[in-house]
Amino acid sequence: MGRFPAGSARGGLRAGDRQKGGFKEAFETEVAQEIEALVGQGAAQGLDFEAIETAARRQALQVAARAVERRLNADTSDHAGPTFPCSCGKVARYAGRRPKTFQTALGEMTLLRAYYHCKACEAGFCPRDRALGMEHASLSPAVTRMVGLSAAMVSFAESSELMGELAGVPVDAKQVERTAEALGREISADERAVVEPEPPSAPTMYLGMDGTGVPVRKEELVDRPGKQPDGSSKTREVKLVTVWSAEGRDEEGTPVRDAGSVSYSAAIESAASRDTDKVPSEFARRVDREARRRGFDQAGRRVVLGDGAPWIWNLAEEQFPGAIQIIDLFHAKGHLWDVAKAIYGAGSDLGEQWAKQRRDEMDEGNIDAVLAALGVHAEANDEARKCLDYVTQNRHRMRYSEFRVQGLCTSTGVVEAGCKVAIGTRCKRAGMHWTVAGADAIIALRCCKLSGRFEDFWERRSAAGTGTGG
Ligand SMILES: [Zn+2]
Repeated sequence: MGRFPAGSARGGLRAGDRQKGGFKEAFETEVAQEIEALVGQGAAQGLDFEAIETAARRQALQVAARAVERRLNADTSDHAGPTFPCSCGKVARYAGRRPKTFQTALGEMTLLRAYYHCKACEAGFCPRDRALGMEHASLSPAVTRMVGLSAAMVSFAESSELMGELAGVPVDAKQVERTAEALGREISADERAVVEPEPPSAPTMYLGMDGTGVPVRKEELVDRPGKQPDGSSKTREVKLVTVWSAEGRDEEGTPVRDAGSVSYSAAIESAASRDTDKVPSEFARRVDREARRRGFDQAGRRVVLGDGAPWIWNLAEEQFPGAIQIIDLFHAKGHLWDVAKAIYGAGSDLGEQWAKQRRDEMDEGNIDAVLAALGVHAEANDEARKCLDYVTQNRHRMRYSEFRVQGLCTSTGVVEAGCKVAIGTRCKRAGMHWTVAGADAIIALRCCKLSGRFEDFWERRSAAGTGTGG
């Protein structure tokens, strides 16, 4: 791979480097020659087309890689004299041209770059790497982008496989991990720094919050209480905020979430705030950014959805006073189902009947009936008592019949599904144990992709001329 066949095409390309028109012609001739050699003189009938298209692509990319390589290596303007300012403030000295092999969308490319070395900080650098967006990286910007997109969707190992299979670019799983995490850190910083408010996309905007555990490495759990029998924990909680609209209606007139309207933002962050705190919690600030970005705060009608977790409602109260608060009906019904199981045992007809009655009462907005039924069992049954507290505390967020009349979405499963889609399917798979920093980076990358913001991020990144740092 990567060897260049001797012949006139090479000479032609070299001459073409000096003349623009000649370059194009020579390039086309060379690709045509390579493909002719591949296909041979036989009739098209008996050809293995897949073998040809695959080999032809590989050949065409190699020819292109060599052409770009020669073009860049012929340009020595990155030698800007005997010295160059170092980032440490001192002056670095020119120390010759050095080769480095980069993985690009065209395959491997070895570039010769002017190298400067700084005695003061004992570091060396190549101004061209910075100019090309490949500082500290052996992957080109296009490959970095591909790795970022695939690792946002699937595991590092699967991403590595897809890179080889689809792009023809070998990037091992470890390198996918490093690259995707570095990119995720950039996205995370960008998300904190850049809020471009949009007007609300609908008269009624919904904002949901939820938490979900992500499995982390042991060292990330020191001194953290959890749900394991010994009081320890194996997970850290990712908190998610999601914003959407639901102007559409199904056949029964129930609001359905508008396709493409959902955005996500999440991280392993605290939502706790005390009266003495001068600044809102990390997660409260994340919610604020997302709300401003989506115009939630400007919407005619604002609805906050969540389960019964107190941090959700504390935060809703602080940040969005006056917004309509709704306990996700899906979640509320799940609670009643748990109580039925605890009282009557799993799979019992009586239990099913009981749960169905309570759910109907809830749908009708008859919370008093639900409370009365729970009250009957509260003393003898722990689950019933807990549910009684939950419904009592949240009854104003469970006025489902009223919400329905107002045309509000009471449960789209968006919040619950959001946690699964944005976090679970990527971060909670068998054998995954994250560092907090690693999980946060990949979550940032995935939320950015799922919210349709990767393109905008990439434009800002390219404009800033930054490479994947560290
Ligand atoms: Zn220096």
